[in-house]
Amino acid sequence: MVDLWMPSATRHALGNEGAMDGGPARAVWHITSNSKDWTFTNELGWFTGGGKAVAPHLLWDPFTGQIAQFFPADSRSLSLENDGSVRTNRTGKYCVQIEIVFTAGETVGGKKYATVRDTPCKGLDGIMAWLRSLGIADTWPGGPPTAFARDTVSLDTWLHQGGHYGHHQIPGNSHVDPGPMPNLFTSAPSPSKPATKPKVSLAHVVYAAKHDPAAAQGHTSYKSEVLLVEKALHAEGLLDSQWVDGSYGSKTIGAYSSWQRRLGYTGSDADGIPGKTSLTRLGDKHGFTVTS
Ligand SMILES: [Zn+2]
Repeated sequence: MVDLWMPSATRHALGNEGAMDGGPARAVWHITSNSKDWTFTNELGWFTGGGKAVAPHLLWDPFTGQIAQFFPADSRSLSLENDGSVRTNRTGKYCVQIEIVFTAGETVGGKKYATVRDTPCKGLDGIMAWLRSLGIADTWPGGPPTAFARDTVSLDTWLHQGGHYGHHQIPGNSHVDPGPMPNLFTSAPSPSKPATKPKVSLAHVVYAAKHDPAAAQGHTSYKSEVLLVEKALHAEGLLDSQWVDGSYGSKTIGAYSSWQRRLGYTGSDADGIPGKTSLTRLGDKHGFTVTS
């Protein structure tokens, strides 16, 4: 038996349920994009009040991990426009729509956030586990979202391919959300992990980065530390999974350099060789502790 209501979500049933049309199960990601109020409470009030007619299944705050659910998974929700005669909200066995409480450029705790990918994504693991339990495949039929721009898939793709979509990809719709997303298919950062974080030595990783990968490979402990760094870079969407191999080669250097630039470093400060601050920031987000 699947749970049609996500067990850890707060239930705010709106009634007004509608049957699905069948076909492969899918999820559709949105952001709330509110110019005035960026809080979960505000969006919850909207979707249970004036915005009932456009409510999704889930409302998720990636900063606090709060999740509310408005419809059971086997009902359509209401955040999509129809595509002509296609009742888009009803496509698939399930079409679970998720509104992320996020606005591009919003400030939280004094820090400005450009994309959902930059947030702590608190609670994402739980959402993904629930979506997988509904049989929603770990794939983006139209590719993962990379920009706030339309990237519409064909109607044939939408009707016949299950998995994950962004609102910007749905035929008959005009929105450009959700913008760049975290990698949903590796385990997401979970700040609630126990205190037994693995350790990564800055010196070991710098050694691996500066030497011929083959030479560094000999140090098996270095290899496992490099792997942790590569997994984190992969989770950030900066390194292809084929290069997550424990070898700090040119692909890893390039990916780490992108990480440094994302933190605001430029020039030789973004050369792909880890420094204490950039590596600590990566470890804080992806569950490892940095030692000297
Ligand atoms: Zn949307």
